[in-house]
Amino acid sequence: MQVEIDAGSGFCFGVVTAIGKTEQAIGSGQRVFSLGDIVHNAEEQHRLEKLGLHTIDHQGIAQVSEGTVLVRAHGEPPSTYQRLKECGVPYIDATCPVVARLQKRVKEAYAKMREVNGQVVILGKRGHAEVVGLTGQVGDDCTVVESVADLSQVDFTRPVTLLSQTTQSLELFGEIADEIRRRSTNPDNIVIQDTICRQVANREQGLREFAARFDVVIFVCGRKSSNGKVLYGVCRSTNPRSYCVESESEIQNEWLADAQSVGVCGATSTPAWLMQQVAQYIEKL
Ligand code: SF4
Repeated sequence: MQVEIDAGSGFCFGVVTAIGKTEQAIGSGQRVFSLGDIVHNAEEQHRLEKLGLHTIDHQGIAQVSEGTVLVRAHGEPPSTYQRLKECGVPYIDATCPVVARLQKRVKEAYAKMREVNGQVVILGKRGHAEVVGLTGQVGDDCTVVESVADLSQVDFTRPVTLLSQTTQSLELFGEIADEIRRRSTNPDNIVIQDTICRQVANREQGLREFAARFDVVIFVCGRKSSNGKVLYGVCRSTNPRSYCVESESEIQNEWLADAQSVGVCGATSTPAWLMQQVAQYIEKL
């Protein structure tokens, strides 16, 4: 059986940087507390915890007496930085530069929309850390939509600026943008800002070609990974024999029945070592 790992899968630069900063801080002897999972991948999270990383939630900030808090690649709302300052807790900011730029764009869009009685609409997953960080830039005075159905919350007689969480699918963003223009009473008042990260979007075509080359595709990613859901959807729409697993222990032998070739790929939060582990497991089978 031929088993191949997709060379285009694995950590994006935002995740590489955040993990690098974490390892460096732990290596220098600091006690490091990640605000939420540093990466939406349980296996990589366990690896970092074994090195000494602690994970806390926002309530835990006040309990950090000795140590440094790590703000992960997803970013945080201003209220979190305020809390860190109030509690006198030092922090390392590993917000991905792409997310930091988007936070700034949300604030700018909001300021412009206020001048014309308009609204900021963000395509994103409600409650996702990055989205919480984005809406927090404008005191949550914006509308988060997850699908075309959610557009019922938008007032189409007023101007709209549409932006997106970095890991959404280009296809859905295009649909939402078209629908907003179609329903608006004045399409000239609609501003569309495609803020999807190309580290995710540019992988879609490559992944489509990769998934088409194999009898079976094993997509490795954490269940909480947003870009994992998008990229796995791309694999599945190309190759119906695509399966999503968190680790090799979830692979079912019948998935591989009669398969001559298996492609292993993953999300921007999937470590290369984990894809290698999965490929080795399949080779042994
Ligand atoms: S997917 Fe893009 S925005 Fe998200 S962490 Fe990676 S590089 Fe940054």
